[in-house]
Amino acid sequence: MNNISTDIHKAKTILEQDNLVAIPTETVYGLAGNAFSETAIKKIFATKNRPLFNPLIVHIHSKELLDDIAEKVPQKAYQLAEAFWPGSLTLVVKKKSDIPYLVTAGKNTVAVRVPNHPLTLSLLQLLDFPLVAPSANPFGSISPTAAEHVANYFPETVPLILDGGICESGIESTIIGFEEDEPIVYRLGAIAIEAIEAVVGKVKVMNTEEAAPEAPGMLLKHYAPKTKTIIVDDIENFLKENSLPKIGTITFFKKIEHNNLVHQEVLSERKDFKEAAANLYQAMHRLDKMNLNLIIAEPFPDENLGKSINDRLNRATK
Ligand code: AMP
Ligand code: MG
Repeated sequence: MNNISTDIHKAKTILEQDNLVAIPTETVYGLAGNAFSETAIKKIFATKNRPLFNPLIVHIHSKELLDDIAEKVPQKAYQLAEAFWPGSLTLVVKKKSDIPYLVTAGKNTVAVRVPNHPLTLSLLQLLDFPLVAPSANPFGSISPTAAEHVANYFPETVPLILDGGICESGIESTIIGFEEDEPIVYRLGAIAIEAIEAVVGKVKVMNTEEAAPEAPGMLLKHYAPKTKTIIVDDIENFLKENSLPKIGTITFFKKIEHNNLVHQEVLSERKDFKEAAANLYQAMHRLDKMNLNLIIAEPFPDENLGKSINDRLNRATK
C-alpha cells in the first residue's frame, strides 16, 4: 500500500497540517496527532469512532519534557519515569493548564509516556509539539501490532502509516495514577506489576470496575476479535465433550492434542511471558481472519505479564 513508509519528514509535514499519522511504538501502533491541535484531536476521535469521554495518552521524546506537560508531579512518578522511560509505562499526573481538555476528557489529569521505538522517538524529536496517540484501530477492536493491521483497518482515512515493524511488547502500556502521591495501577499492561513494585514498593491494582471512573474508557469489552471468543481451563477436555466445527485455540506453551482444530496459536513454546504478550494480538488478528465459529483461549498463570494477558483475554470474551 502506498501510504506505508518510513519517512519521518513526510510524517512531520502531515502532522504540522493538523492531519494524522499512524506511528509504531513498542506497545501497539498509535494514531497520532498534534496534542495541541483541536482539529487533529477531533480527527483522532472521529477516525477511531472513539467516545469523547475516553482520554488520550500524550507521547513525548524525553522524560525531561514531563514538567512541560504536568505539574505537581509526585516523587514516585519521577522515580518510575527514570526506571521505565522510554518504555511501556503511562503516568497519569496533574495536567498543565495549556493541555486541551479534549485530550484529557475534561479531567485535570493527563496521561503521559515516552514510547520506546527509534522511528517514533526520531519523529518526536523533529516536532515542536508532543503527539496524542490512542491505538490505531476502530474503537473496541484488536489493537494493531503491525503496519499492515493499521492499513487493513483504515485503508483510506489515515494519510500515512509509519512502518516500524512488529511491535516488540505487543500489548498496551501499564497505566499508573496517583492518590495522595501513592501509585495506583489503573490498567495492567506491558510492564509487570512485579517490576513496578521493585522500584516503588507495593502498589494498589484497581480492578476494571474500580478503575472505570478514574481511567475512563477502561471498558469491560475491548481488544476483541469479531469471532466469538471464550476462555476454557482445560481445552482438550472441553473439545472431547463438545463437538464443534471450525475452532481455533490460543494457548501459552502447550499444543492441543486434537485432530479437528482449524488453527492453533501457541504464544510461547519456551514459556516466556514477554514473548507470549508480544504474540497475543498477532495471534488474535490471524485467528480472526479465518472465519472460525469460535476461538478458545486458556487462562494464563496469574503472575507477571500473565496477569496482563488474562486482562486482555477477559475483555476479548465479553
Ligand atoms: P489507549 O486507549 O491505549 O490510548 O489508552 C488510553 C487510556 O488511558 C484511557 O482509556 C484511560 O483509561 C487512560 N487515561 C488516559 N488519560 C487519563 C487520565 N487523564 N486519567 C485517567 N486515565 C487516563
Ligand atoms: Mg486502544
